[in-house]
Amino acid sequence: FAPWDDPNEEPLIQFKGVTKRFGDFTAIDDLTLDIYAKEFFALLGPSGCGKTTMMRMLAGFETITEGKILLSGQDMAPVPPNKRAVNMMFQSYALFPHLSVWENIAFGLKREGKPKDEIEARVDEMLRLTRLKKFEKRKPHQISGGQRQRVALARSLAKAPKLLLLDEPLGALDKKLREETQFELMDIQESTGTTFVIVTHDQEEAMTVASRVAVMDEGRLVQVDTPDRIYEAPNSVYVADFIGDVNIVDGRAEPEGEQIKLHWAEGQPPITGTPSQPLTGAERVHFAIRPEKVAIAKERPEGRNNVLEGEVIDIGYLGNISTYHVRLANGQIFKAQTANTRRLANRGITWEDKVYLSFTDTAGVLLER
Ligand code: ATP
Repeated sequence: FAPWDDPNEEPLIQFKGVTKRFGDFTAIDDLTLDIYAKEFFALLGPSGCGKTTMMRMLAGFETITEGKILLSGQDMAPVPPNKRAVNMMFQSYALFPHLSVWENIAFGLKREGKPKDEIEARVDEMLRLTRLKKFEKRKPHQISGGQRQRVALARSLAKAPKLLLLDEPLGALDKKLREETQFELMDIQESTGTTFVIVTHDQEEAMTVASRVAVMDEGRLVQVDTPDRIYEAPNSVYVADFIGDVNIVDGRAEPEGEQIKLHWAEGQPPITGTPSQPLTGAERVHFAIRPEKVAIAKERPEGRNNVLEGEVIDIGYLGNISTYHVRLANGQIFKAQTANTRRLANRGITWEDKVYLSFTDTAGVLLER
């Protein structure tokens, strides 16, 4: 049982009908969400959708207009930020430039008046956890960006919060370091058992690190699910389009036994699909299929249901994969992606070739919104 599927598990965090308005602008709209202890939970969405506002309300830096936030069952409204078992790590890290790495990590513990030997033991543990022991005497300007990021993390974990909020924690790192650091973050999260809530607008990052992802749009949750379900079973065109690459066609649905025939363009054969969840009977539906689920060949595949004919107009070679942009007779561009497992990466397909795209009945999803 994952905690979110276990009816006996009490959530660590509960948003209950939370609304946040700034003047007459609604930044968060009647939002209800449970997050469980030890989760690595990601808030994902475009700029301005309300991710940071949710974090600030959790940390207590922002009041709530309507609704409640509970932490371990307790209403947080009367609890000031410094009395919550919550810490927030900012993108800027906000390290003290004149203090050493060691002193930066010890800062919060000292301010709490913890005994000296307890502080030393705790800082030492944090230095080991974040592999910073040999940099302990350096000042922030004498270490690299990735190391500064780890100091900020060590400092936010030093007081052993139940919950750590990370707002774009890897935003300042370059792509390679960012990817390495994602795995470090996962290791640290697991070994400390702290609940992490991360804000990111990088969908790959959310998918890599998170146990569950909440996809947001204009102050609302669109889907909250595990990364694989978000990718394989998006609940809407918005989610399908936001996460990864996708082909989408709109059409008229005609039920045929267990299946749907989708009539989508003049002169194109209907697409046959099997709905992953029952459709409620809307006539207009969308069909979404990932490029890697679409096969491409120069010969027409025999005995297949869904075969589309087109012309290659672009090929993107990425080493491990190639993406083919294919223009169909009705003008729509369809993408097909192949894994380049063989040495001959492009399978003899080149620009302006006439090709056949095909996919199975269950390769795509049918969506009503
Ligand atoms: P980004 O990815 O760009 O950081 P975000 O999803 O974190 O965006 P928020 O910072 O939560 O977005 O902002 C949500 C909305 O609320 C935005 O439209 C923003 O302009 C608005 N907003 C945030 N803070 C205030 C404020 N203090 N006063 C008025 N409007 C605000």
